Amino acid sequence: MFKSLYFKIVVILLIFVVAVMCVVGAILMNGVTSFYVNDFYNQMKECFSEDSIMVEELYSSAASDDSRQDSLAYRMKTILSSYGSVLGIDPYRNYYVLNMNGEMLQGSDANLGAQLIVTPNILSAISHGSENRVVSGSEYADWAYYIAGEDEECVIYIKDSLDEMRQLNQVLFSIILQAMMIGIVIAIVLSFFLAKSISSPLQSLTKGAQLVAAGEFSYEIDIHSEDEIGILTHNFNYMKDRLKATLDAVDGEREKLETVLSCIRDGVIAFTADGRVLHSNSSADERFSFDKNDKGALEECFDLLDIPLVVTDNSIKVSSPDALFERTKDGFIFHDKMVGDRVYDVNFGIIKYYSGNKKSFGFIIVMHDVTARYELDESRREFVANVSHELRTPLTSIMGAAETVVNDPEMDEEMRVYFLEMVMTESERMMRIVSDLLVLSRLDNKRTSWSIETFDIGESVRRLCDVMRTDLDAHNHELVFEAEEGLPEITADRQRIEQVIINVISNAIKYTPDGGRIAVEVSAISEGSFVQVKVADNGVGIPKEDIAHLFERFYRVEKSRTSDAGGTGLGLAIAKELIDAHGGSIRIESAVDEGTVMYIEIPVECRLKSA
Ligand code: ADP
Repeated sequence: MFKSLYFKIVVILLIFVVAVMCVVGAILMNGVTSFYVNDFYNQMKECFSEDSIMVEELYSSAASDDSRQDSLAYRMKTILSSYGSVLGIDPYRNYYVLNMNGEMLQGSDANLGAQLIVTPNILSAISHGSENRVVSGSEYADWAYYIAGEDEECVIYIKDSLDEMRQLNQVLFSIILQAMMIGIVIAIVLSFFLAKSISSPLQSLTKGAQLVAAGEFSYEIDIHSEDEIGILTHNFNYMKDRLKATLDAVDGEREKLETVLSCIRDGVIAFTADGRVLHSNSSADERFSFDKNDKGALEECFDLLDIPLVVTDNSIKVSSPDALFERTKDGFIFHDKMVGDRVYDVNFGIIKYYSGNKKSFGFIIVMHDVTARYELDESRREFVANVSHELRTPLTSIMGAAETVVNDPEMDEEMRVYFLEMVMTESERMMRIVSDLLVLSRLDNKRTSWSIETFDIGESVRRLCDVMRTDLDAHNHELVFEAEEGLPEITADRQRIEQVIINVISNAIKYTPDGGRIAVEVSAISEGSFVQVKVADNGVGIPKEDIAHLFERFYRVEKSRTSDAGGTGLGLAIAKELIDAHGGSIRIESAVDEGTVMYIEIPVECRLKSA
């Protein structure tokens, strides 16, 4: 309340009114006093001047012998009373005739005369002086005049009590007081309107400023005047619009940036200099779940990514001497960092940004997902190693056998045939590997030429079982074949499909101990849109952990065992590629020492096109 504008204006106006009235009152009352006192002395000066008739009369009466029987005082009184109106005698102003001791002899008011005090002017007259002084601030005004007769002398004394002037001043004072009261009321009313006219727009401005601070920009302040407050309001509205436009532009840019960042598959995390997270995109958030406000977030990130960096107040050092990294213009790149099942190239750099008005620096980590490249590189490396290994084994046998034959020309015929057959067998094995690799290479490069035909898959599988009869008999396996009645014919590359089925059945023969049981079933599934060829054996089975890898190139459960069985580890990889190319699928169910079931599902209408 006491801080309000209204209160301040009221107080200022009240002080103003009171001050003005006091000054006016003081000037007026002082003016009245001066006028009254000056008027008294001027009147006295005139009345008691040398050439005034009254003075002449006073002197002649004082010197006259005719009136000797009357005292000088009496004669003086008589003359003075006849000049009462000239001297302005009234209840407030009286004349006295004093003896030379200053005591009243005669006077217009005997009571007052009895209380007379000897004033400086009386003293001056008693000592025959004619000087009358105005004593400023005195409670009375007086005039004393020395008169000498034949042998008598006296002092004529006029004294004004100034009560009339005081009464006038009192009236003036009460008028000023009343005027002041009216002025105060007017000031209060005026200040109310003045305060309202100033404070209303200021209140609107305050409300507007609060809304702007709260982010509400739609509030438009009305302009009611063209004065300074009107200009201020206009400028406020302009500033608010500019601020909104700027904030919209900043928001737009930020949204754009955030959209771009969220679309980037690379993880991006910006850190403050003290290690807290400044910003992170969704890809980074998926990978990390650290507390963003924790100053240890940067350290945690280094730990998770296995980045050997130590950040101090004024330096960044690589802590591990044998760390593999690349230095860039403003940071480092650490390659092939594993986080869970993903692999990243991690860029670390320094950034500059504004925090409030302060320019600060921080760090940025960009995790570029290179899992696909890494896996491809890995599988290439593995593939080259596998191919080298697979070709080296038969080549070593071939070279060994050939060398033996060459170095021993005396070798008997039986031995030479043995070694030459070994050369033949290993060459065939190499041939198989190379031709399997060629098949895969063509499938990879989509250069396989397909020969599409429509055929009876049931009949086809039955014929294949017959073809493999010799092999089955050699291992004393029992083969049970079953084909569903009314199987639909399929449209596919017959030779490739038969190649897959042969591979699967020959695997069942290979990986089932002699005297095993192999069941081959052909049936229609998925409402006749697919045909399923199921090959079940009661052989060695496949460990659970190997099943998912069986379609990888050169993958074998126990290399030595399957190598003995003449396998290359490429058969199932080729089978999967061929069936996938037809739009079908191949899957395995197996249990160790119980047996394996292979399901080959081929669409009735394949999506391949003839070459
Ligand atoms: P391979 O030419 O070595 O047989 P495949 O790709 O055809 O190559 O098979 C890959 C591996 O899968 C084999 O080495 C074998 O360990 C396993 N396997 C395939 N079929 C069977 C099966 N019916 N029973 C047990 N293991 C099998």
